[in-house]
Amino acid sequence: MGTERVSDHKVVGIAFVLRDDDGEAIDGCDADDPLYYLHGAGNVVAGLEQALEGCSEGDAITAVIPPEQGYGPRQGPGPQPLPRDAFPPEIELELGLPFDVEDEDGEEMELFVVGIEEETVYVDVNHPLAGMTLHFEVEVLSIRDATEDEREHGHPHHVDPAELN
Ligand code: ZN
Repeated sequence: MGTERVSDHKVVGIAFVLRDDDGEAIDGCDADDPLYYLHGAGNVVAGLEQALEGCSEGDAITAVIPPEQGYGPRQGPGPQPLPRDAFPPEIELELGLPFDVEDEDGEEMELFVVGIEEETVYVDVNHPLAGMTLHFEVEVLSIRDATEDEREHGHPHHVDPAELN
């Protein structure tokens, strides 16, 4: 126990608070409901992976991450309107929801929902947190080896750690 280090192919459980430049908490989770991510798979922003690399269980860190290591700089023409019925009705639209579309060259690109009105949904190439410096406070709660399935899928499955060994 306690000898595991955060590195590629580990599933890491964290509690965190994410604050903006004004110190306002904009995201987070606590130890009762941790975030599990697969290290090295881009599940969390690059700057956070770098900050957590090599950490042990119980470590608490702070990290200030510029947009380039976070959700990227803001770009593009800004939010674009789409009719609500361009989305399948079974999709539950929420702010920040990512989805893939093909551009006119058939290239896949990621868009984010940034505004929802009754008949119109606004989408943008920018993640809602693009352009922001991210101030993280993170506690490492658990570290375990990823299963073969998880490595293949590139994300953790919601397996109770107690069931694994
Ligand atoms: Zn999967």
